[in-house]
Amino acid sequence: MTEISTLGEFGLIRHLTENIKIKNESTLKGVGDDAAVLSFKDKATLVTTDLLLEGIHFDLTYVPLKHLGYKSAVVNFSDIYAMNGQPKQITVSLGVSKRFSVEDLDDFYEGLRLACEIYGVDIVGGDTSASLTGFCISITCIGEAEKEQIVYRKGAQVNDLICVSGDLGAAYMGLQLLEREKTIFAGEKDFTPDFAGKEYLLERQLKPEARKDIIRQLKENQLLPTSMMDISDGLSSELLHICKDSGVGCAVYEERIPIDYQTAMMAEQFNMNLTTVALNGGEDYELLFTLPLDLHDQAEQLEGVKIIGHICDASLGSCLITRDGTQIALKAQGWNSLEDNNL
Ligand SMILES: [Mg+2]
Repeated sequence: MTEISTLGEFGLIRHLTENIKIKNESTLKGVGDDAAVLSFKDKATLVTTDLLLEGIHFDLTYVPLKHLGYKSAVVNFSDIYAMNGQPKQITVSLGVSKRFSVEDLDDFYEGLRLACEIYGVDIVGGDTSASLTGFCISITCIGEAEKEQIVYRKGAQVNDLICVSGDLGAAYMGLQLLEREKTIFAGEKDFTPDFAGKEYLLERQLKPEARKDIIRQLKENQLLPTSMMDISDGLSSELLHICKDSGVGCAVYEERIPIDYQTAMMAEQFNMNLTTVALNGGEDYELLFTLPLDLHDQAEQLEGVKIIGHICDASLGSCLITRDGTQIALKAQGWNSLEDNNL
């Protein structure tokens, strides 16, 4: 265990950022001067930022620092893909309390670097400071896109198809599982719960991926969504954002919402309504997008994408159509208020 004070602030930044190899043409200068220098030529620049606080957004009793590093980078990349762009650079600022060592920060940076390696992103700067309590992470991600290819939330049109990638609710069930085991093992020294058969849920919670592959598929098939978002707060909430910004309504079919087997098993064990979990669970980082109805056949060909409903006139509202044909108005619950509601 090396105390951070032995390196000093500049020593620490040098230690964490040495050997960073620049991957992108748009990065003219990365770490090592007063500011990074970027150049996107004729492309548009996308900027997104995210603040993560210990005890609010993550719990270090069960989140390994390496995973935390990976996830904090990936959630930012996801927002850039949600604009139909490519993430290119990040800056990383950390607030670190005394209980963290240099080795802890190495673990965090290992995850961060791995994510940057996989997604082709450069770490171009950041700051590190002592914090009185806990661990704080602020990451800003810069991306690029062709101006005409940027997809906003506001473009959905009546009759458009509503598409979603992957499956929903698994990250939330992973969190429930970790929280339950934390309670059971509270106070015990060796925290080694048995997660056999539930690996997918844990991976979705601890090591999510951004859907770079879906953006590539859309491009290869020359499909430009009319609107798009990533699903961080839950399908319901994101659908309502798209509908509000586009001035439309929507109908989503319960039976078409993609859900993994492990999510269904876990929801049953926890006695939770599976559709509620899939609609409001959050942290899935899947893509939600709309395509014109005449692209139905191409939309069906997309790998890992499901058509779950359609956009309708605003006067019809935003609703879920259940398996027995009942219409229920969608509500934005967000991922942290699932306990006392049905849908
Ligand atoms: Mg987003």
